[in-house]
Amino acid sequence: MCRMSRIAVIGGGAAGMMFAVLASEKGHQVDLFEKNEKLGKKLFITGKGRCNLTNNCDEQEFLQAVVSNPRFLYSAIYGWNSADVMDFFEKAGVPLKTERGNRVFPCSDHSSDIIRCLEKKLAENHVTVHLNTEVRSLLIREEKACGLVLEGGVVFQADAVVVASGGKTYPQTGSSGDGYRFAEEAGHTIKDPEPSLVSLTTEEACVKEMQGLSLKNVRLTIERGRKKLYDEFGEMLFTHNGISGPLVLTASARVGRELKKEKLAARIDLKPALERDKLDARILRDFAEAPNRQFRNILGGLLPSSMIPVMVGLSGIDPNKRIHDITKEERNRLVDLIKGFPLTITGTGSFHEAIITRGGVNVKEIDPGTMESRKVSGLYFIGEVLDVDAVTGGFNLQIAWSTAHLAADSL
Ligand SMILES: Cc1cc2nc3c(=O)[nH]c(=O)nc-3n(C[C@H](O)[C@H](O)[C@H](O)COP(=O)(O)OP(=O)(O)OC[C@H]3O[C@@H](n4cnc5c(N)ncnc54)[C@H](O)[C@@H]3O)c2cc1C
Repeated sequence: MCRMSRIAVIGGGAAGMMFAVLASEKGHQVDLFEKNEKLGKKLFITGKGRCNLTNNCDEQEFLQAVVSNPRFLYSAIYGWNSADVMDFFEKAGVPLKTERGNRVFPCSDHSSDIIRCLEKKLAENHVTVHLNTEVRSLLIREEKACGLVLEGGVVFQADAVVVASGGKTYPQTGSSGDGYRFAEEAGHTIKDPEPSLVSLTTEEACVKEMQGLSLKNVRLTIERGRKKLYDEFGEMLFTHNGISGPLVLTASARVGRELKKEKLAARIDLKPALERDKLDARILRDFAEAPNRQFRNILGGLLPSSMIPVMVGLSGIDPNKRIHDITKEERNRLVDLIKGFPLTITGTGSFHEAIITRGGVNVKEIDPGTMESRKVSGLYFIGEVLDVDAVTGGFNLQIAWSTAHLAADSL
């Protein structure tokens, strides 16, 4: 494509804004179309309003954090890695800091600083931003993208079109999955969009009794038959119909597809730092100190209070039984429960609460070296609309920045 092309970008989110900034810097006339009344609505809520904009790690670690199609992102990440992204924002006047797990945030802890920075650059580079403007379809002639159709059938002519319309989670932010329709109209196939980085639902109704209870330093194992699908340490919490929290969100990315086919068995080790016999010795000590107490009153030192009635119920031990009457076999059952609180995972939460969409435009139909469609020339796909997704930690925004940079670079 020659210089000074007119480029239409669909979506003023992370990927669309970054693309518009970088392409306009190269001298292209860029028109950015956003259906909301402002830019970056989803970006605003990222990282609980603090925007975990990238992960301060090398390319290999980044690729390991990508769950779907990491190899597709090879050129994108080697072309513009997290150090480049940090450099971009810092040079643009947004000081950054790196926190636990290499998560990068603006020093101000305000996602609005990231949005304001991009908006300022858009204005400096004379990008025309069309707010409150919903793109209805693509204009394609003879397998070449040549513009867009807006509301009311208004046609906008362009030399190239970039689809940066995001996935379909948190639809109230504007990401409602329109890009999948545009891609299909252009002859692309779509890998079924599914919610990911999301809570998991369980068969056991007892979770409701523990709703809101947060567990730190536990180990979550999820298995299909004897095969371990997920086994990590961290923090999680119980919800009204299942489990959530950082450990569970990451688990959802790893086991979500399996859950489409069948339920999965999960176990929570509540005391991962204690070997089984050490835990047994600890319980024996507690029991020896209060032999006349009732079973239901002895677990306070070991378990959070809202979990005790559930544990007592699952143990099958009479809650009123005196400690000195508890048998070794009963104590073993208690140890088993603490080392492996059992749950049956039935599915995931909805698109309304998921952090990202797994699935999207089939990456086999996109040139990984340019982000251009292999079916329609002059048509590009960047960001979450593609069938790529990563775990939490700033990796998903890095996908948006890197794919945007690659597309802008290849114009
Ligand atoms: C609650 C939450 C927290 C998150 N926190 C983090 C985090 O801290 N770190 C991280 O790396 N990732 C995080 N993510 C994920 C991250 O926000 C996304 O992966 C990223 O925003 C994707 O960027 P995008 O530009 O591809 O899409 P989006 O940011 O979704 O932008 C798409 C834009 O396109 C517009 N659009 C859609 N259709 C049309 C149309 N037909 N016409 C015009 N405009 C249209 C939408 O209105 C939207 O503004 C979080 C997500 C959520 C929901």
